[in-house]
Amino acid sequence: TTVGVVTETASGERRVALDPDAVARLMPGARVLVEAGAGVAAGFPDEAYRAAGATVASRSEVVAASTVLAVVRCPDDALIASLRAGQLLLGLIDPFDNLDRIATLAKAGITVAAFELLPRTLSRAQSMDALTSQSSAAGYRAAIVAAEAFGRYFPMMITAAGTARPASVIVIGAGVAGLQAIGVAKRLGAVVTGYDVRPASRSEVESVGAAFLTSSVAEGAAQGGYARAMTAEELAAQQAELAERLVGFDVIITTAKVPGRPSPLLVSSETLAALKPGSVCVDLAAGARGGNVAGSVDGSRIVTGNGVTVVGAGQLAAELPTSASQMYARNVVALLSSLLHDGAVVIDPSDEVHANVVLCRDGEIVSAPIRKALG
Ligand code: NAD
Repeated sequence: TTVGVVTETASGERRVALDPDAVARLMPGARVLVEAGAGVAAGFPDEAYRAAGATVASRSEVVAASTVLAVVRCPDDALIASLRAGQLLLGLIDPFDNLDRIATLAKAGITVAAFELLPRTLSRAQSMDALTSQSSAAGYRAAIVAAEAFGRYFPMMITAAGTARPASVIVIGAGVAGLQAIGVAKRLGAVVTGYDVRPASRSEVESVGAAFLTSSVAEGAAQGGYARAMTAEELAAQQAELAERLVGFDVIITTAKVPGRPSPLLVSSETLAALKPGSVCVDLAAGARGGNVAGSVDGSRIVTGNGVTVVGAGQLAAELPTSASQMYARNVVALLSSLLHDGAVVIDPSDEVHANVVLCRDGEIVSAPIRKALG
């Protein structure tokens, strides 16, 4: 098998699918081709890949010679057009937001494996869980971005010139990213509250030393440990209830997502208008399918008329490119080891991991949730 790695095509993306360390780990069984410069933005020069045993080549050479193409995010149309039938494309493809591209890939006979479809609760799948590794990186960055955008200290400061009270931070959505954001904000000295609709998250939030707040209007646990999508009425009631609570906070970090569904709008424009000047919202759910904060735009920083900074931060793991790539590469190697047998990609539909992550092959969409989303 030849595993290819190209420079990511999504704008602002600095991660790379394999780091030199992962190349070395793949080497005995596979040949690795890396596009020249692919790792530079993540801190991995071509030399480091060569030293690990990879061959550095042009993008077209990498694509032409690879049986497996490992990516971080869904490739752009130009790269997709250069792929060929039978190749395996593997990454955080974000299939529900890239349905047109999925249809194109399927039609072209390309096999696509998406980390988003991994059965995460399976203990065997944990080493492959790229959603978790990247959410951790994003959550860590979220607290740092918030502290950086905030005009006051996070910790309580007792100085000769006076005392500053600590910042109050609320993290909405206490999953992988949220818990990480809570931990970092606490370590920076803020007073932190966690909020989630899954009852199970209370103990997780309290175990990292934060106060817990939940919705009295909706209990949101669904299958597989995820939150369910709220009805429009529940969401409106949740927004109204949150609005009252949120005005007291200096910093709001939102991470609330529902797999395959639009992210719930939890901080309405009315709530934003009621926040204190100088408050900061960091929205990790910002993206193509909306976000948790009204008006947030992924990759942009907006200051509202009343002086609230809204940071659209849907791809924060890309801002920690070295660590995020190292963790991601481990997930790629783990998934590849499950897919490779005697040096060839073998998809076994009776294997729970394979049956879920592979969304199309041999010209067919084989994933039930994706088939449903495509209609
Ligand atoms: P996610 O990114 O899909 O969502 C982030 C958080 O937002 C979740 O905690 C969710 O409950 C919350 N949320 C959704 N809608 C909300 C709303 N309307 N109001 C408030 N909060 C809302 O989730 P995630 O972080 O990837 O993981 C979700 C759960 O799965 C967590 O409990 C996590 O610990 C668990 N998990 C388990 C495994 C495993 O078993 N190996 C691996 C990864 C995650």
